[in-house]
Amino acid sequence: CGIIGILGNHEAAPILVDALRRLEYRGYDSAGIATVNGGILDRRRAVGKLVNLADLLVHEPLAGKSGIGHTRWATHGAPSVKNAHPHMTGRVAVVHNGIVENFAELRAELAQNGIGFVTDTDTETIALLAQLHIDQGMAPVEAAKATIDKLHGAFALCFLFEGEEDLIVVARKGSPLAIGHGNGEMFVGSDAIALAPMTDQITYLEEGDWAVLTRTSLEIRDVNNALANREKRTIQIDT
Ligand code: GLU
Repeated sequence: CGIIGILGNHEAAPILVDALRRLEYRGYDSAGIATVNGGILDRRRAVGKLVNLADLLVHEPLAGKSGIGHTRWATHGAPSVKNAHPHMTGRVAVVHNGIVENFAELRAELAQNGIGFVTDTDTETIALLAQLHIDQGMAPVEAAKATIDKLHGAFALCFLFEGEEDLIVVARKGSPLAIGHGNGEMFVGSDAIALAPMTDQITYLEEGDWAVLTRTSLEIRDVNNALANREKRTIQIDT
């Protein structure tokens, strides 16, 4: 339901949780964050209010300056820790808004490759497909793009990768995404309100866009995979 991504210069966990708080108004049943630190992906998830996630992070902190976060409004699979985002394999973590309409077919394709499932969500298929593509030899960006191309439905997506502390891949199809430009930092959020404490320099993705973010660069491609020039605006939101 709510998405946040950070390639920052400070510890990401508290900033992710704070940004998720700013997305609470959208409604949610569970929440989670993932970071990549020393190349390794890890995550924390909790059912219910964000304070539960914040409490968990006190007892089991999550280090790292690159991360993604999510507030979930369950559509496929009950609200539970198991089904909460980020969904993760060893190599990729993903947060997702919306619905993957063809997840049953994608599951069948994954099962044919001998891949099993641990959640009841449509989202898990995204992480598993990206992992499969990486296992088949694709680089992270290529694997994310190949995965995005297979998904039907209305959604927004944000990928984080093992071994990549300066890389996030996002996609917008039916669900808005705002990119925030910091000073040597880059952010993404389901809306600019979530990013307001970090930056007022915002680029909105357009329908069908996907993008590759680093701390210092943003490359957006349109629905035909052509490089797209999207305006950077200064927006005014009360923090
Ligand atoms: N369909 C996904 C799920 O049920 C994402 C729901 C959302 O937008 O929060 O986990």
